Amino acid sequence: MPKPLVRAGGGLAALRYSFRKAGNAGGLFKLYRRLRSRNACKTCAVGMGGQKGGMVNEAGHFPEICKKSIQASAADMQAAIPERFFQDHSIVELERWSSMELEEVGRLAFPVGAAEGDTHYRRLSWDDALDHLSVSLSNTSPDGTFFYASGRSSNEAAFLMQTLARAYGTANIHNCSFYCHQASGVVLSRMLGSGTATVTLDDLDHADLAIVAGANPASNHPRLIVKLTQLRKRGGKVIVINPLKELGLVRFRVPSQVKSMLFGSDVSDLYLQPHVGSDVALFKALLKGVLEHDATDRVFLANHVEGWDEVEADAQAADWGELIQLCGVGRSEIEAAVEAMVNAKRGLALWAMGLTHHKNGCDNIQALGNLAAARGWIGKQGSGLMPIRGHSNIQGVGSVGFSPAVKQVLAEKMELAYGIPSAKGLDTYGSMEAALAGKIQVAVMLGGNLWGSGPDLEWATRAMQAIETTAYITTKLNQGHLHGRGKRTLLLPVLARDEERQSTTQESMFNFVRLSEGGQDGPAGEAKSEVELVCALAARLLPQGPFPFEKMTSHAAVRKVIAAVVPGYAAIGEIDSEGEEFQVAGRTFHEPRFNTESGKLRLAVPPTGAFEVAEDQFRLMTLRSEGQFNTVVYEEEDLYRGNLRRDVVMINRWDGERLGLGEFDPVTVESTAGKMTVVVAFADLPPGNAAMYYPEANLLVPRNIDPESGTPAFKSIAVRIVK
Ligand code: SF4
Repeated sequence: MPKPLVRAGGGLAALRYSFRKAGNAGGLFKLYRRLRSRNACKTCAVGMGGQKGGMVNEAGHFPEICKKSIQASAADMQAAIPERFFQDHSIVELERWSSMELEEVGRLAFPVGAAEGDTHYRRLSWDDALDHLSVSLSNTSPDGTFFYASGRSSNEAAFLMQTLARAYGTANIHNCSFYCHQASGVVLSRMLGSGTATVTLDDLDHADLAIVAGANPASNHPRLIVKLTQLRKRGGKVIVINPLKELGLVRFRVPSQVKSMLFGSDVSDLYLQPHVGSDVALFKALLKGVLEHDATDRVFLANHVEGWDEVEADAQAADWGELIQLCGVGRSEIEAAVEAMVNAKRGLALWAMGLTHHKNGCDNIQALGNLAAARGWIGKQGSGLMPIRGHSNIQGVGSVGFSPAVKQVLAEKMELAYGIPSAKGLDTYGSMEAALAGKIQVAVMLGGNLWGSGPDLEWATRAMQAIETTAYITTKLNQGHLHGRGKRTLLLPVLARDEERQSTTQESMFNFVRLSEGGQDGPAGEAKSEVELVCALAARLLPQGPFPFEKMTSHAAVRKVIAAVVPGYAAIGEIDSEGEEFQVAGRTFHEPRFNTESGKLRLAVPPTGAFEVAEDQFRLMTLRSEGQFNTVVYEEEDLYRGNLRRDVVMINRWDGERLGLGEFDPVTVESTAGKMTVVVAFADLPPGNAAMYYPEANLLVPRNIDPESGTPAFKSIAVRIVK
């Protein structure tokens, strides 16, 4: 590791940061009280809190806390933005502000709007803002609109908003996973008949081995690292697959464990560094090794799997030399990983966007699924497939139908009970293309930063600016509210989940649904509950119909409807009386009986082709820093990678010398989508590979889309680095 600013992930640096943040949030006690409140953690989808109390996981373990959750809570505890701010700062000026600068302005506490030609956002009344949005929607054909959600919202708000959109007449309904994990959902649904993790949190305590591919939980899901260190402590093994050697995946200091705090804990046993975009070749090489050890689970494959013969034949026919040349990982490292796999009875395959953010994202997931199936690691306790999902409720938002196509059962029930149809609509990328073509007049965004999270920022800007009315339902300002403005833009402030006046629910990546009771102080002002806002819009927009929007201001009433129509969610109907949080039914597979028609796991052969570039190009991937969450940047520095600034391109030292470049030398990075001037930073990457920070480097991401999932290839970008 060339120059990280700390000797291990986590540890004192994280604690110091937390104390500093507590100061900004009105003191340690205030922040602690907020973090301990009975609300689900607002950051990542590992999930903490809820009815067992803040900082407690579903197994009842305390303290479960990380820097990410402190960042999000402290940011929400900022004061309200005064009206004067919008008078003093023009839109043109704010366009130059960074993500961090906008995040630190404070909480939006009253609606603001800007019409075409306006130089400043100006304050609006709620009535004016909602009337404007409602009239815009009424005057537009529903096909000319789209509705987008981030994973910040509650199940209740997401369910109501997608119901409103469908009752209004559009199915152009999608969420931020269409730029993230959609490939996981597509392949898992095909394989298992269920699109989410097959495991519970408890399974991590029973596995002998974990493969962590294309993910950096040390930065993005810190409490997962604790599970990995515990797995190793029990004698298990962890194999990390990531082109970049990440400090936090090598060594981590777990703040809640004294010994680990003092000496650090090893996180991984083996660290494989393939070329960016070569995962299928590496997974096939590992599968070939398993076959050569005759270590497949023959009984499982014969009785519970379809398509294995083709997968086996493909791996056997694959050429070792070609696989190694494509992935760049040596045969001895592959053999060491195979041996670890062969010696493990129960294994977990974990992954994140390092696998999905490619033009062949679905192929990557399929190849990893094939490998896990070969060892019989799907459909038994302590084993399974686990996409590491991003935002705290992104899974729930999808479960309750905030998606262009919904499960058949949900569609049929909504049609039968309420006459609300569920045709298939445009996904996120499709909606942006439609916007650029002038076919979208109104876009409603329930949270998130659609502009900043997309590929090709220049394209994204043109697409958003072609829309007549963009409405952002938000807690704070972000760059999307400046660069992603339509001709008229509304910013509508809402409460965060722990400030809600009624309880809400959220679903974790382990399919565990928590009840957040809200009740914490919100910003002084007029921020609304999201559900209240949706109901107010429905009252203006929709004629009286069979769906009783007028009764839905009660969150408990929304939950009763969800219980009746959303597959696996029946238990939410009792959550108000029993307070019992629950696993979504039908998604955890501890027995080898799957939700496919035959009840068997379905495998398929993915093409091996890796991401190839010209001789003078690099394979560039975008990635997040330790000090950010999704598009929100909390800190400019990245302690784990040793970068004090974000405008860097990380390359191998050997590449630097080859090109006559030293650290901090200015260079231009060029792709077919754009160019950026940055400085060089050396990192432990295979030669010929490079990394830059998301979302800034989205400027360079061409619109290469995985055809099956619609996910843009944020991590396989061909670039030239020019002095
Ligand atoms: S790991 Fe995720 S869910 Fe757990 S405390 Fe950190 S941000 Fe919250």
